[in-house]
Amino acid sequence: MVRDGLSPAQDAGARAGLAQALAAGAQILRAGGTALDAVEAAVCVLEDDPHFNAGRGAVFTYDGRIELDAAIMAGQDRAAGAVTRLSTTRHPISAARAVMAHSPHVLLSGPHADGFAADHGAVQVDNAWFATAERRRQLDELVARGADHAGDWYDVDLKYGTVGAVAVDSAGHVAAATSTGGLTGKRWGRIGDTPLIGAGTYADDRGCAVSATGAGEYFMRVGVAAEISARIRLCGDDPRHAADTALADVAALGGAGGVIVVTPAGDALFSFNTPGMYRARANDRGLYDVAIYGDEAR
Ligand code: ASP
Repeated sequence: MVRDGLSPAQDAGARAGLAQALAAGAQILRAGGTALDAVEAAVCVLEDDPHFNAGRGAVFTYDGRIELDAAIMAGQDRAAGAVTRLSTTRHPISAARAVMAHSPHVLLSGPHADGFAADHGAVQVDNAWFATAERRRQLDELVARGADHAGDWYDVDLKYGTVGAVAVDSAGHVAAATSTGGLTGKRWGRIGDTPLIGAGTYADDRGCAVSATGAGEYFMRVGVAAEISARIRLCGDDPRHAADTALADVAALGGAGGVIVVTPAGDALFSFNTPGMYRARANDRGLYDVAIYGDEAR
């Protein structure tokens, strides 16, 4: 049986990947590590897993290439790093971390960003390394439909598959990381919300950490990630209300997607207006769930 376009094998593979990413992050936090290290480790696992639209398994551009975006942010001091249109860096999230740690900038782009990442030890691969047959099929299908404008890209049945992680550490600091191939068939050097601080990724100890997935153009226009944090910080919003309200604004503009949110107090929640969203969460008080569809744990 295929549910919402996922075969049983895809479903099981995605859940295994989520559990593995959760374990990688949790191990760091349990050992007293930082939220920043935990979110980077979790996202690295998902970037190597072909079930997700990031790193290996990322979606194709209209030209049959793979261009990767990523961002990382620390809530303690709002340090941030991001990269866009990478084509050879195996772990875009580690490139983003290098931008944050080793440059005076926040966002680097294209081959120069790959070069910067390489100079800071990030493994480089051929662009073909990221390619999978399933993503090629999705591009071929889109091209065969004659889709050549944004409205045709947002196929919720294909799910988005961008990966992200949010975490809070024992010192009460939050962090967020997001990594993606963007949207199937993207053209003209299109950049989504993922690497834009405040749109797809944000972290502030005074509010929360947010990582988003969905139709990036809408998330940019709403400034989703920063808005959720600001609602908590400035309006005293309950985190779920803050997340639901920002996503309702996305929906009001015609967009779809979802977010994962963590607060310094340890609230861990999801909000999405798509049929499903890959997600998993754990804490040191016994919370553990891995889910995909809308009718599973929230
Ligand atoms: N938000 C991403 C983008 O627009 C896509 C996704 O979430 O899958 O680039």
